[in-house]
Amino acid sequence: MVTADFDLAPFTIAWEVTRACAYACQHCRADAQPRRDPRELSTEEGLALIEQLASFGNRPILVLTGGDPLMRRDLFELARSADDRGLRVSLTPTATALATERRMIQARESGIRRVAFSIDAADSVVHDSFRGFRGSFQRTQAAIAAAQAAELSIQINTTVCAANAGELPALAEQLEEWGVVQWSVFFLVPVGRGERLQLLSPLQHEEILGWLSELSEQAPFDIKATAAPQYRRILHQRTGRTMGAGFHYSDGLNRPVRGVNDGRGFMFISHLGEVMPSGFLTLPAGNVRSSSPVDIYRHSEIFRRLRDTEALKGKCGRCEFREVCGGSRARAYALTGDPLASDPSCPYEPAPAAPG
Ligand code: SF4
Repeated sequence: MVTADFDLAPFTIAWEVTRACAYACQHCRADAQPRRDPRELSTEEGLALIEQLASFGNRPILVLTGGDPLMRRDLFELARSADDRGLRVSLTPTATALATERRMIQARESGIRRVAFSIDAADSVVHDSFRGFRGSFQRTQAAIAAAQAAELSIQINTTVCAANAGELPALAEQLEEWGVVQWSVFFLVPVGRGERLQLLSPLQHEEILGWLSELSEQAPFDIKATAAPQYRRILHQRTGRTMGAGFHYSDGLNRPVRGVNDGRGFMFISHLGEVMPSGFLTLPAGNVRSSSPVDIYRHSEIFRRLRDTEALKGKCGRCEFREVCGGSRARAYALTGDPLASDPSCPYEPAPAAPG
């Protein structure tokens, strides 16, 4: 069965294979630690999990994330198993000395199609201060070169907050030089270490998303906004369509035809096996050690509520764009304590309801 129905299967699954990471990034969602947690899912548990994820039947994208997934020695065994079972695998390694060309070649040979590196500014000093590691920018450049040599396609993830918003135009030019296939711009959700950073105002969100939508018309790479589904509303207002929807890549990690949101086309599995709507909406709905991730995604109360746009509250609940957008459920939860509340980062005023 192949389905695009988000009630039945997620389009993307992110599995935090470990929380171990050599970096201490200011905005780390995972509050990553230098050492691996002995309670992480074991290799056997990971292989069993992959088997279950394959049973969704829609060949979801599986993002092996962390922490730094390269800190797991069994990483490529897990990736091989996922690829063999039809999952489309990508990897988000940390740009440390572990991200060598040899490992990038191993990544490709194990079925990984794309690697995503984090860069938060074109200015190395700004980037390094974000990442809490001097020389991180240079290391990332070296890791990108290693991935290019291994013929992996490359995605860049950028977390944007008040401190680096002005860096984005210069960074966009740099990405063009690197030949990346996708720029995934994460709008900060104040969780983990990111709680200490200053959020963008609603108007700044709107301005940056508007600029990204203009850029997307001429950039040689695809642009995706993460934790900012109002990007789809802005694209729709500009062009009458949701650009990027259904876009096909040569690496097979295509864009969904409908908007993904926390718990709606997206599922996150923590290093301990907890299933959550996303890595930024950390409400555990069950654990893969005791329950099927398929059952949790399809039937748990929180996932079902998040997929029901009728359950949205406030402005998002009465917005004509709620199907296309729906607001960041993670930011609503982080800022209000209610995952169904209106997204406080959106300044849009919904059109008044037509007189009945
Ligand atoms: S009000 Fe909510 S649903 Fe409407 S565009 Fe803004 S975030 Fe999206």
